Amino acid sequence: MSGKILVSGGGIAGCCLAWWLRRYGYAVTIVEQAAEPRAGGYVIDFWGLGYRVAEKMGLVDELRRSDLVIEEFRVVDRNGRKISGIDQRALQDIAGGRIMSLQRSAVASALYHALDDDVSVRFGDSVATLTEHPDGVEVTFRSGAHEGYDLVVGADGLHSAVRHLAFGEQAEYERFLGYYVAAFSAHDYPHRDPHVYVTYGEPGKQIWRVTMDDETTVFLLVFADASPQGIPMHDPAQQKEILARRYARSGWETPDMLRALAATTDLYFDRVSQIVMPRWTKGRVALIGDACACPSLLAGEGSAMAMAEAYTLAGELHAASGDHAAAFAAYEQLLRPYVERKQKAARGFAASFVPQSALALWLRNTSINVANTLGLTRLLFGAQINDRQALGDYR
Ligand SMILES: Cc1cc2nc3c(=O)[nH]c(=O)nc-3n(C[C@H](O)[C@H](O)[C@H](O)COP(=O)(O)OP(=O)(O)OC[C@H]3O[C@@H](n4cnc5c(N)ncnc54)[C@H](O)[C@@H]3O)c2cc1C
Repeated sequence: MSGKILVSGGGIAGCCLAWWLRRYGYAVTIVEQAAEPRAGGYVIDFWGLGYRVAEKMGLVDELRRSDLVIEEFRVVDRNGRKISGIDQRALQDIAGGRIMSLQRSAVASALYHALDDDVSVRFGDSVATLTEHPDGVEVTFRSGAHEGYDLVVGADGLHSAVRHLAFGEQAEYERFLGYYVAAFSAHDYPHRDPHVYVTYGEPGKQIWRVTMDDETTVFLLVFADASPQGIPMHDPAQQKEILARRYARSGWETPDMLRALAATTDLYFDRVSQIVMPRWTKGRVALIGDACACPSLLAGEGSAMAMAEAYTLAGELHAASGDHAAAFAAYEQLLRPYVERKQKAARGFAASFVPQSALALWLRNTSINVANTLGLTRLLFGAQINDRQALGDYR
């Protein structure tokens, strides 16, 4: 197969797509706005279709090297005493062992390093304009470069530039779920619990802490705030202040966490939103991953979905011998019901993710405990983990 494809975004979706496109004979360029592959970042659970795509790529052993082997999900009270929790091994059983917990960057990095040398990756640049004509797409880049491609794929995340250029304003497609999320890492943090996700909640705010294998600790903070425009999105200093104020009187080890927050240089901060679009493709432009189908962190499966979308889009292009219109239609038809199901489930989970009253918090913690004690974990998570969605076979 011949054809030049530009992929905007060198994250999980972009690198996975490039790997499969290259395998099918396409000439692929990735343009990534970051100056280099990003390290660190929040911890994700990785299972389902993404795990199956990783198996097809022969990447599971590589990913296993970064698996944090989480054994317990532990809910603590303001004094650090365990009040509830889940034995993570039950989730392992449900998934037949095909699940792991690792940093998002470990998945992205494994995919990036698996790329053929002839996939060209341009770091530190991004798409500035797209002009489509009958035979291709003319692209100008922020660096000033100018090139033509047969197809352009936006794999550039929640705030996708390609979506903005080809489909219009983000506000048209973004569904804000009423939370903000922050993640950062700390070195030599005084409290360590290897192989345990520890979490502490108060009405409207929650903290998760994961001890990494080295001297690093990763924090995830989610707080409720119904105003989608009220918080500065591009100023880490202001974001630190907002977080410090929100968590100022919180219990548990929060004062230590806030000291670590003040010192961190890798703060991630964003709205918790979904992207819901009536079409994921238009002319010679397609979107994959969070750019078109972000389910939000509440799905716990966005990376896996992004890989399934990448695998399917590349496979359909191959199956349609490069007839992009047929391939794009098949890609949407195959995956739209699956994505809609996952997005709906995540929205349904929003209220109990960070309960907003003391009673709701107590109910959530108690139901986790009851499920764990009575061995009902399969009932709670079975359908979500053992998804029946099939992947196409494009051999
Ligand atoms: C806190 C948190 C926890 C999560 N937990 C889980 C979990 O447990 N399990 C799970 O499966 N998923 C989880 N997710 C979701 C998962 O991280 C995303 O769904 C997944 O990373 C989407 O991959 P992507 O490649 O589409 O987008 P991204 O990971 O956002 O990657 C986009 C890439 O494009 C680049 N880019 C952005 N703009 C441009 C531009 N203009 N030009 C060029 N490049 C650009 C970015 O630098 C980045 O490299 C979580 C998400 C969050 C925020």
